[in-house]
Amino acid sequence: MSLPRIYNDNAAARRHLERLVWPDGPICPHCGVIGEATELEGESTRAGVWKCRSCEKPFSVTVGTVFERSHVPLNLWLYAMHLMTASKKGMSAHQMHRMLGVTYKTAWFMAHRIREAMADPKAGPIGGEGKFVEADETFIGGAKKNRAYAKKPPKKQHVMALVERGGKARSFHIANVTARTLRPLIVKSASRKSHLRTDEGKWYERVGEEFVSHATVNHAQDEYVRGDASTKYG
Ligand SMILES: [Zn+2]
Repeated sequence: MSLPRIYNDNAAARRHLERLVWPDGPICPHCGVIGEATELEGESTRAGVWKCRSCEKPFSVTVGTVFERSHVPLNLWLYAMHLMTASKKGMSAHQMHRMLGVTYKTAWFMAHRIREAMADPKAGPIGGEGKFVEADETFIGGAKKNRAYAKKPPKKQHVMALVERGGKARSFHIANVTARTLRPLIVKSASRKSHLRTDEGKWYERVGEEFVSHATVNHAQDEYVRGDASTKYG
């Protein structure tokens, strides 16, 4: 079975997104006018850029979406969202890394952005009795060449994500990766009746003791090394 074109062709993916987001014609994000824009063409123009005839500013369909400022082709974003919503058990960044052919770090970032977009911000703590919560932290940004829209070089930022197996997630921008910064966020956002799964960072050791169980995963081996060695990550 071959994949639908929107999952392997960037232009088809963009057209698909434009039809979904703009059923009544392109909406200018600057002045709000609907159906009054012209698609820019020509060799020097990036595909998918429209110019508003009212305020004369350029825009594309990804402005204000989770895909904005991403170097990942739109077709891969759509495929990732399809995989994450179609899979009942949820999909780990490792599975996405393998299926999309992007780096693990990119897959982690994509999964994080997609879950964030789908999350209910007013919901209570994630996890609970018999549930597994995975904590992970990473750097985001920093490399200007990765940014299609870069106006000024983005600052590198730490982000921590807490992900309940099967879906729910919380994520935070953090000033630094220390036990003192992470602990209050973790205990506020995840029920301590959960099983906590983290990477091998020493900042998780103390807070891990507050949970029903705590085991660490070695990303290189894709496997938990303590407590629950038979459990695959994801
Ligand atoms: Zn406009």
